[in-house]
Amino acid sequence: MIYDYIIIHYDEIGLKGKNRGSFEELLISNIEIKLKSLMKSCFRESGHITIEIDGKANISKIKEALSQIPGIAYFSLAKRVELNLDSLKKEAINFLEDKEYDSFKVNAVRHDKGFELNSMELNSKLGEVIIKALNKKVKMKSPDIMLKIELSKKSAYISNEDIKGVGGLPTNPQQKVVALLSGGFDSPVAAYLMMKRGCEVILVHFHNKNQASSSVESKITKLAEQLSKFQVKTKLYIVPFESLQKEIIMKVNSKLRMLVYRRFMLKIASEVAGMNKAKFLIVGDSLSQVASQTFENLEATYTGLDKHVLSPLIGLDKREIIEISKRIGTYEISAMPYGDCCSYFLAKHPTLKADVKLLEKNEALFDVDKLVEDVLSKSRVIGF
Ligand code: ATP
Ligand code: MG
Repeated sequence: MIYDYIIIHYDEIGLKGKNRGSFEELLISNIEIKLKSLMKSCFRESGHITIEIDGKANISKIKEALSQIPGIAYFSLAKRVELNLDSLKKEAINFLEDKEYDSFKVNAVRHDKGFELNSMELNSKLGEVIIKALNKKVKMKSPDIMLKIELSKKSAYISNEDIKGVGGLPTNPQQKVVALLSGGFDSPVAAYLMMKRGCEVILVHFHNKNQASSSVESKITKLAEQLSKFQVKTKLYIVPFESLQKEIIMKVNSKLRMLVYRRFMLKIASEVAGMNKAKFLIVGDSLSQVASQTFENLEATYTGLDKHVLSPLIGLDKREIIEISKRIGTYEISAMPYGDCCSYFLAKHPTLKADVKLLEKNEALFDVDKLVEDVLSKSRVIGF
C-alpha cells in the first residue's frame, strides 16, 4: 500500500476550547521543523492535523520522528479518498486488497458531520461491499483488520493502524526550563516529562574532569542527543565542577557536602536559566529515594534560590522511573558505567535532616558570585 497522508490525533489539545488553535499551530510548526523535507505539507482539518507525504517518502523515518513529537497522542498512515460513497467503496476495496486477514470491521468517524450518511450507515454500506468483493467476514470484537474511515469537511482518509505517540502538549519555545542532567536514570526522565508537557528544556551537566572517567562526557552527550529527539532545539551546557568541588571538599564537613554540591549546582543552573530566559529549574529528585532527597533535605536544598525548582519525579517509585527510561530510550545509556562527580568524598552516613541555616553558614565561606561566574565562563555549550 502506498500511503499519501498521515492523520495526526491529539487528546489534550482537543480540550483547550478557545486556545485550541494556538496549540494546533504550535504542533504544526514543530512537525514541520522535525519532518522537514520528509513531508510535503501539514495543515489543520476538523478534529485532526493532516500531513501530506510523497508516495516515495521514507516511512520508517517519518514514523520514528512523529512518535517522538510531544502533543501527538497517536497517528495513522492513510490513503486520501474523494468524499463520496462510490469513491469510498472503491478505495476501501483497493486498500484491503494487498492485506492478509480473515475478519474485518469498518469504523467510520465523522470529524465533520456534513456527509450524507452517518457513521453506522457508512459502516454497514462499506461492510457489505467488502464482504461481496473480497469474500471476508465481519467481526465486531477483535477483528484481524480494523478499517478506519475518517471524514473531514473536504476529504476522507482510510487507515488501519493507530501508532502511539508521546501524548502531552507541543513544545512551546516561550516555556523554557533548565534541567540538571546527571548520568543516572532519574534526571533524563525528569527532563523528558517536562518536554512532554510542552517545555523547551535546556540541559546542564556538572562535570569533574579529574575524577570522572573520560566516558562520562560521551555518556552525557548521548543522553542529550536521545532527549533532543523529543523537542525542537536542544542546548547542553557542560560546566566544569572540579575547582568548586575541591573547595567544597576542603571547607565543608563530609556529612553536608552532597547538599552543598547540589545547592551550588542549582545556583549555577539559576544563572544559566537567567541567561536563557528560562523560568524553572528541573531535577530528578524522588521523595526519600536517597539520603539527599529526604523530606527535610529537599526543603533545605530548594530554599533561597533565585528560581523555583520543580521535580517531576517527586511522587514516582524507582520502578516507574525505570519503566519510562526504557520507553524513551535513555535506559541503556544511563546504564553505561561512569563515575558521577557527586559521589566522591562523601560521608558514609550523610545528614538526613539538614538545616538550611547551617548550609547557608557553610556557603558564606565561599565567594559564591565569583565562583559561579568563573565556572560559567569556562562552560561549553553543545547544540542538538
Ligand atoms: P540521577 O539518577 O538523575 O543521577 P540520583 O538518584 O542519582 O539521580 P542524585 O545524585 O542525588 O540522585 O541527584 C539528584 C539530582 O541532582 C539529579 O536527578 C540531577 O537533576 C541533579 N544532579 C546530580 N548530579 C548532577 C550532575 N553531575 N550534573 C547535573 N545535575 C546533577
Ligand atoms: Mg546521580
